[in-house]
Amino acid sequence: MTLHVRPGILDIAAYVPGEHDLPGSGPIYKMSSNESALGASRLAMEAYVQGAADLHRYPDGASHVLRAGLAREIGAKEDEIICGTGSDDILVLITRAYAGPGDEVLYSRHGFLIYPIAAQSVGATPVTAPEKDLTTDVDALLAAVTPRTKICFVANPNNPTGSYIPASEIRRLREGLPANVLLVIDAAYAEYVDKPDYTDGSELVKEYDNVIMSRTFSKIYGLAALRLGWAYGHKSIIDVLHRIRGVFNVAAPAQLAGVAGLADKDHVKRSKAHNDYWLPWFVAEVKRIGLHPCPSVGNFLLVRFPTDPKLNADAAEKFLKSRRVLVRKMGAYGLPDYLRITIAEEAAVKACAQALGDFVAGAATQ
Ligand SMILES: *Cc1c(COP(=O)(O)O)cnc(C)c1O
Repeated sequence: MTLHVRPGILDIAAYVPGEHDLPGSGPIYKMSSNESALGASRLAMEAYVQGAADLHRYPDGASHVLRAGLAREIGAKEDEIICGTGSDDILVLITRAYAGPGDEVLYSRHGFLIYPIAAQSVGATPVTAPEKDLTTDVDALLAAVTPRTKICFVANPNNPTGSYIPASEIRRLREGLPANVLLVIDAAYAEYVDKPDYTDGSELVKEYDNVIMSRTFSKIYGLAALRLGWAYGHKSIIDVLHRIRGVFNVAAPAQLAGVAGLADKDHVKRSKAHNDYWLPWFVAEVKRIGLHPCPSVGNFLLVRFPTDPKLNADAAEKFLKSRRVLVRKMGAYGLPDYLRITIAEEAAVKACAQALGDFVAGAATQ
């Protein structure tokens, strides 16, 4: 082979998405990717279908209508917002713009795996800081800063742990980081959280020109298939990202569905209410069964299993699969004793609870 791949690219451990299929027939309970339990808004689906008439047209490359709608929603200006092909796209653009070979990209030990992938893809070095009780530790992040640090990613709430840090801690992080380090607040699950001390970070964006917050239509809006995300930051950062984004990075039907989905407040409310009911229900079941749930403010639950091979996370994952329940293994996140389980539709949550109970009871009689 005479081609030379850029250094670091072949060191990337490719992202492994949640499983979505099983052999055989019958329903599959997909609880492996934190997708919406209720699906997409009807209005978003209709807007998407209407877009079919214009499939021969290029999309509006600047996503003007959607950005204007998002700006209105959060009290920002359109030039402070960028849309992307999922928030993944934007996290990668941020990394490309602000880090390169020799630079360090900092994130928390069990943070979202897109961060190290983005860092390595631009030749930068991913650096992790330890967590406390599976929660972002601001002091540890600050202690890990070096003169080479260019970006600090914090998912708040974090996936896969489900934990969050309060507004005061995010502020302390920004104040403790050097001014030349961009703080990226990934608030993919913000809509699910109603803790009084939680913030998505937008007030820091208003105050600082070195903070950016990313959001997604993939979770509570139920539009994961369309790949639609956005970010809010100082207009100087957003301007930089617009220069390097794909010229037509958001498909027209995705823009249409996004605008309609954003307007469908009832749908978001119903999705939140579903999670507010079934997350605590599932937590109680998991505890009753004798397993250990980690406190979660998202639409998913991280569950710790015993290390006994009859009862461990690998055995549980296999057993759940035999019941057609798909969940996420956590070895890639350094959490091999855990499974991450999405609070999906009612039938799935009940099937999963039943299967976990049977798994533990079965292991006890082996
Ligand atoms: C799901 C998720 C995203 C969103 O990804 P998209 O590319 O918008 O689908 C971003 N960050 C975290 C932490 C997530 O869990």
